[in-house]
Amino acid sequence: MTGMSKAEWHAAAQALQIDGRAVINGARTDALSGETRTTFNPATGQPIVEVASCGTADADRAIQIARETFESGVWSGMAPADRKMVLVRWAELIEKHAQEIALLETIDVGKPISDTVNVDVPSAVRTIRWSGEAIDKIYEQISPTGHDALALVTRLPLGVVAAIVPWNFPLSTTAWKLAPALATGNSVILKPASNTPLSALRIADLAFEAGLPKGALHVLPGPGGSLGQHLGMHMDIDGMTFTGSTPVGQQLMTCSGQSNLKRTFLELGGKGPNIVFPDANLEAAASAAALAVFFNSGQVCTAGTRLIVHESIHDQFLESVIAAAANWAPGDPLDPDTTMGPMIDRSQCDSVADYVGIGKTEGAELVYGGSTTLEETGGAFHEPTIFSGVHNRMQIAQEEIFGPVLSVIPFKDADDAVQIANDSIYGLAGAVWSRDFSTAHKVAAAVRVGTMGINNYFGGDITVPFGGFKLSGNGRDKSIHAFDDYTELKTTWIEFD
Ligand code: NAP
Repeated sequence: MTGMSKAEWHAAAQALQIDGRAVINGARTDALSGETRTTFNPATGQPIVEVASCGTADADRAIQIARETFESGVWSGMAPADRKMVLVRWAELIEKHAQEIALLETIDVGKPISDTVNVDVPSAVRTIRWSGEAIDKIYEQISPTGHDALALVTRLPLGVVAAIVPWNFPLSTTAWKLAPALATGNSVILKPASNTPLSALRIADLAFEAGLPKGALHVLPGPGGSLGQHLGMHMDIDGMTFTGSTPVGQQLMTCSGQSNLKRTFLELGGKGPNIVFPDANLEAAASAAALAVFFNSGQVCTAGTRLIVHESIHDQFLESVIAAAANWAPGDPLDPDTTMGPMIDRSQCDSVADYVGIGKTEGAELVYGGSTTLEETGGAFHEPTIFSGVHNRMQIAQEEIFGPVLSVIPFKDADDAVQIANDSIYGLAGAVWSRDFSTAHKVAAAVRVGTMGINNYFGGDITVPFGGFKLSGNGRDKSIHAFDDYTELKTTWIEFD
């Protein structure tokens, strides 16, 4: 529900005034080179606006200002209670501009407007407000030394932090990075994905309106291969927080080793196992299985792309999932009834189509969807797609497709289910469905992922940490634990006369 009709959303989108310039030192700024890049609407293929394409000189300028701001203490030295108020005001301003920001996210990413209104914007608001509210309630430690000494264990901000984010949840991931990084007193350089810079640029304007010092946040749209690498290699950046693909995360880790050992935290890909036992609430499990892989057109790192189903219910359950897939018909993202938008661009759509071809060649059975669709719109739409008869060693079960493609894999018993679930280079998220709490809990404990749902998929909120095991990364976004990624532990040892 969005409270507006499709026609009203289209009219509102037409009326948007969009500024594609970078944000440096609190002001909208062209790239020093004057270069721009067009951002396109994935639902129509039409251009939206020219966006500044920043290079290394822009980055060096922003990093220098960020460093000076950090050293000045205007933000890093501000009392936590005062930083809190800035973040809380920022969250309120985003809430006040919710319609505009939801629209920017919908036209830039292709997300259904009902999702951006009900999920992405409220989630960003909650993240920023919660992190602000938390920061003045944290106590530091005195260690259990002997009586002749006093030892303080405190946490200090890292300094200048670079945040690089992807295109699938631009607003949410931006908030997940900026809120704890700023709450803990860092200065931040944010590089949005080239495809989706608009919401990050807009919320940065609002941060300064809320009272954030100008030098504490800079948003630099620009190419990952050059600008992103420059940030990774920079000697004056103390922390790198990244969400994106595993290969780029690995490169950034290498950059850290080759430069100044900047603290580098990575949130990477996934191949989520969703395990269904015969005693589960099968109706709820089938509906959630479709949600787990078709939400956001499957462009979700935590997507439940491997549906691991007990062999005794396999055929019947597959029928229920196919029926649930009908609720995920691709359509116009500005229509409030649309549940599934386009892929981010044509090349992502082509990549999904290639994987559908690979699945067929590998001998999996295509039982639903399997094609691109709505070509007449100019958008990059792909049907929800289901393969059965998948073996976990097949390429479609091992590689992150990042599209609406489900692989259904049978299992014999709990050990078999866990073995299949863990047979992956990834370890980000998954779920298990059973009414037997012992089975559910044992399986949930044995699956090596950062977040496991029991009788739900995508469960969680800002109070719990989010991140991966194995090649899904090493950082944790959200919750108090995220503050650890943006701070250094410091010991102060005091001896008495
Ligand atoms: P990507 O290609 O890795 O890009 C992510 C970001 O990194 C973009 O801003 C990109 O800039 C930048 N980048 C690209 N090459 C770079 C380089 N060599 N050095 C530094 N930065 C570079 O990933 P994506 O295709 O945007 O996003 C999809 C991936 O993100 C999937 O693998 C998904 O699983 C993962 N993801 C993970 C999480 C999580 O929390 N674990 C959440 C969401 C998504 P350009 O846009 O300019 O290329």
